[in-house]
Amino acid sequence: MRIVLMGPPGVGKGTQAVRLARRLGLVHVATGDILRDAMRGGTALGDKVREFVEDGRLVPDDLMGALIGERLKNPDAADGFVLDGFPRTEEQVATLDRVLGFVGVRVDRIIVLRAPDAEIVRRLAGRRVCPNCKAVFHVDNKPPRTAGTCDDCGEVLMRRKDDAEEVVLGRLAVFARQTEPAIRIYRERGLVEDVDSVGEPGEVAERLWNALASERLG
Ligand code: AMP
Repeated sequence: MRIVLMGPPGVGKGTQAVRLARRLGLVHVATGDILRDAMRGGTALGDKVREFVEDGRLVPDDLMGALIGERLKNPDAADGFVLDGFPRTEEQVATLDRVLGFVGVRVDRIIVLRAPDAEIVRRLAGRRVCPNCKAVFHVDNKPPRTAGTCDDCGEVLMRRKDDAEEVVLGRLAVFARQTEPAIRIYRERGLVEDVDSVGEPGEVAERLWNALASERLG
């Protein structure tokens, strides 16, 4: 299966994509993680994208197109994937069509996660992430066992620069302006399932699973 998770920043795409990929035995491809790894590793790509990512703007489509084309060529994505963070613009939808079209496949389903803006700002203000294994915590809702330390790998947790409230508001505006039109394209193709992302991650995961299952049965 080739599944794309879409939705505003902080809605839980990463958390749900990891769970879903594990459940289906598929690879999880997160463009935000790829970009942050490149920034952390000080690669040429990292230097090129840093300013965009830290300011909460989208990285230009041509760069993202090249990146996703390369990533999906990897054999681990040959039989399916859970894509998180791509596509985010109408042009990226066309790019993904093209990349998959080369190998004669298509996206099977788009899950759009939704939560109110106020909830998103609250979630991102308390979000802490592990730069090493990408585990995600929240200071109130999901605190790590030892404050400031990743439960899974022991790395020091960090706050993403783009989780600062003023940057989050900009990212929400980018989502409305650039990503909603991309979702519209998939909706017109009848591929979209909307899933309410308010609640415990386990609860949301079940809703998401049911949305996929009902489609598979239907
Ligand atoms: P995320 O981790 O998905 O919230 O992505 C973090 C940031 O990485 C975004 O705010 C963008 O600056 C950049 N980014 C990730 N995916 C894309 C994409 N498909 N197109 C453009 N920029 C992206």
